[in-house]
Amino acid sequence: MFDSITGSITNAVNKIRHKDDVASLKKAITELKKSLLKADVHHKTTKDLVTAIELETKRLGIGHDSFLKALKDELTKILTTTGNQGFVFSNTPPTVVLMTGLQGSGKTTTTGKLANYLKLRKKKVLVAAADLQRLAAVEQLKQIAAQIEVDIYFDDNEKDPVKIALAAKEKAKKEFYDVLLIDTAGRLAIDEELMKQLKKVKDSVNPNEIFYVADSLTGHDATKTATSFKEQIGIDGVILSKYDGDTKGGVAISIANQVGVPLRFIGTGEKMPDLEVFIPDRIVSRLMGAGDIEGLAEKTAAVIDEKKAKEVTKKIKKGEFNFNDFLEQLAMMSKLGSMKSIIGMIPGLSQMAGPIKDMDFENSDEIKRIKALIGSMTLKERETPSLMNPSRKRRIAKGSGLSEAQVNKILKQFKNASKMAKKLSSKGGMKGLQNMMK
Ligand code: GDP
Repeated sequence: MFDSITGSITNAVNKIRHKDDVASLKKAITELKKSLLKADVHHKTTKDLVTAIELETKRLGIGHDSFLKALKDELTKILTTTGNQGFVFSNTPPTVVLMTGLQGSGKTTTTGKLANYLKLRKKKVLVAAADLQRLAAVEQLKQIAAQIEVDIYFDDNEKDPVKIALAAKEKAKKEFYDVLLIDTAGRLAIDEELMKQLKKVKDSVNPNEIFYVADSLTGHDATKTATSFKEQIGIDGVILSKYDGDTKGGVAISIANQVGVPLRFIGTGEKMPDLEVFIPDRIVSRLMGAGDIEGLAEKTAAVIDEKKAKEVTKKIKKGEFNFNDFLEQLAMMSKLGSMKSIIGMIPGLSQMAGPIKDMDFENSDEIKRIKALIGSMTLKERETPSLMNPSRKRRIAKGSGLSEAQVNKILKQFKNASKMAKKLSSKGGMKGLQNMMK
């Protein structure tokens, strides 16, 4: 995430040569200005921002630290909009939310992500498929709902989104859902038909909130379309999708500064867990390459089952970690979301990560091989890895399509890992680890 901005901030800071050197501060400011514009920050916002940073740096006394502090404070200030953060529940459930956005913005995916986010927080969620514009949208939402195990309301014979939205609201009320998320139709560009239809849906269900999903890859256009939606429909929050990978990052600054609606969430990848509450100082920290450990801890807490974690630790201590535990841990990792979204949260890692950044953890060849191998084991073998012998290994190799050498290699790695984990989890384990790292 944000590689371009993080890199150019370092360049800008390095322009400052000496303490109280006004000329070099000017150079740093010019460099920063260039990089903000390149990162798609609107020119007016950029101008205001760099002016404020220059003044504040001078006030603090020119130097690397003061420049960084001024940058951090001013970025945080600009990203801090008045209004809500994250999700707000109505006092009288169900909380009804309209999900709006242009076609391809990530609206349907984000509806699923938000449902998943709420489900992880123990809410009873219903999604409604009222995007009848894009041919595959209903089918896509059905698949997502099945994947995250959230209920869905749809009606394949109904052509009127208003009726679908109303029926879904009725169901949500009757069956005591906490939240109803309605996926509405998008168009390729803003047009009157779309706005009319959205207004009708809005007037009929009277939602608690309307979220606008803005595609951050569209840069300045994201700011423009969000503004149009705000003026024509009225929106309560922006969710910035695709804020990962090649995103320039600056679009958040522009939206926060110009649309006048709070940024509520960001989408940081294609998977269901890749959604985060938009918290300004954390985003700034990541923009500046300083990570977001707090965010990572929260993300982990939401997916980790503490009781399970304790059980597994006990097993590891006894040297009983088996293949079933392994599969469970893998499944938990994938709930954390894509590698890219996690990397930006660990200080310094985004600059160092290189190839891991693009690693698709679940779909990597290594993980696929291990899964195939475990898939060919009997239940007993999965629970008791020590049962393994040459004839069992041959059978597993045949069943999984791996060579015997590959099977041997994976089993050996598993055995070593399990031993290592046992050592580390026993008393003095940390010391052992420290010794290993020396
Ligand atoms: P809709 O037409 O607005 O409903 O768009 P979709 O939900 O079908 O999303 C369009 C594409 O964007 C899909 O390929 C999604 O996987 C992808 N997408 C959505 N959100 C994100 C995100 O936060 N990051 C990335 N990398 N891709 C996303």
